[in-house]
Amino acid sequence: MSSFSVDERGFYGKFGGAYIPEMLYPNVEELRINYLKIIESEDFQNEFNELLKTYVGRPTPLYFASRLSEKYKTKIYLKREDLCHTGAHKVNNTIGQILLAKRLGKSKIIAETGAGQHGVATATVCALMGMECVVYMGGIDMARQRPNVERMKILGAEVMPAVSGSKTLKDATNEAMRHWINNPTDTHYIIGSVVGPHPYPDMVARFQSVISAEIQNQLQESEGRNAPDHVIACVGGGSNAAGAFYHFLEDESVNLIAAEAAGQGLQTGKSAATTALGKPGVLHGSKTLLMQTNDGQVVEPYSISAGLDYPGIGPMHAHLADTRRAEFYSITDEEAMIAGVELSKLEGIIPAIESAHALAILGNRKFDKDEVVVINLSGRGDKDLETYIKWGKY
Ligand SMILES: *Cc1c(COP(=O)(O)O)cnc(C)c1O
Repeated sequence: MSSFSVDERGFYGKFGGAYIPEMLYPNVEELRINYLKIIESEDFQNEFNELLKTYVGRPTPLYFASRLSEKYKTKIYLKREDLCHTGAHKVNNTIGQILLAKRLGKSKIIAETGAGQHGVATATVCALMGMECVVYMGGIDMARQRPNVERMKILGAEVMPAVSGSKTLKDATNEAMRHWINNPTDTHYIIGSVVGPHPYPDMVARFQSVISAEIQNQLQESEGRNAPDHVIACVGGGSNAAGAFYHFLEDESVNLIAAEAAGQGLQTGKSAATTALGKPGVLHGSKTLLMQTNDGQVVEPYSISAGLDYPGIGPMHAHLADTRRAEFYSITDEEAMIAGVELSKLEGIIPAIESAHALAILGNRKFDKDEVVVINLSGRGDKDLETYIKWGKY
């Protein structure tokens, strides 16, 4: 059986690697040479686990959703990443990376952000560690996501508008890369998902793998076995899914299910369903699947949920899709909104609209009544209140 983890060269099957400009090579190489040694050290693990416990609030509950289970005639558990400090799973990764940065002797942090969620998670840990923080954000995104811009500023970060190109995420990424090239010795670049050049996808997956490690322990308690029949997660770049799948990747008795954003529909040109519409190419330093035109221009993605509005997918997920180790579904805006309101009314939990895409799998696929289904509830819906109100059907 083939492995679904990264190989020594930084590849997952045909995807991954580090396709970077030469100027960036020393920074990425420093990280590649050191990341495993640091992450696996006892000193790192102690500090990481202590912060996950006392600062983030881990372990997050694995909640048996009885009314949802009754409706879909199967056994549904929700992994409550929405209860993490800052409201989503992203902080697991930013804590891991800032501890790594400290051990590499870095004093400054940069990041890029689209909707602002990763920017807020990064600004949060910089405040925690007393590190300088610069977050690049597209000028258009800054106007669209004003509350997150203000959150970052309250937390002490400097928010730099990216004013080139389409003034969105891809331009912010370019400017963050340029900043890193110009400040290689004192600065660490915190990437927010399982994307980017090797070792980022593997490093971020390891930090998020605490999610599936906890699921194993919690299922052992509640079901007397440490693996579910199905794990479901939404995929933007793929970090919450990578974390929820991680310890089950090589156990093929566990079915992995990924929900990506179909936006207004696969054929409408307004979508972010990368495995359905994408082709192999290079994006943000790794070979992966991405949505592109016939001549290789990246297509501007669309989803009602800001966190899934990304034209690519991490290389681990491209490999999981390519080998059919995971089932991929495209969920429309409408299906996600309906699933989000349904969870609110049945369980008293208003989910992030990203997470609602994972919940919408329940309406797309049958599960047996004795099967154990774990859905990763990646975040809470507070940030999406405006979108729920605008949609209006509740
Ligand atoms: C950012 C975000 C996502 C998408 O990112 P992944 O890297 O695919 O996990 C999903 N859910 C929430 C709540 C988010 O904030």
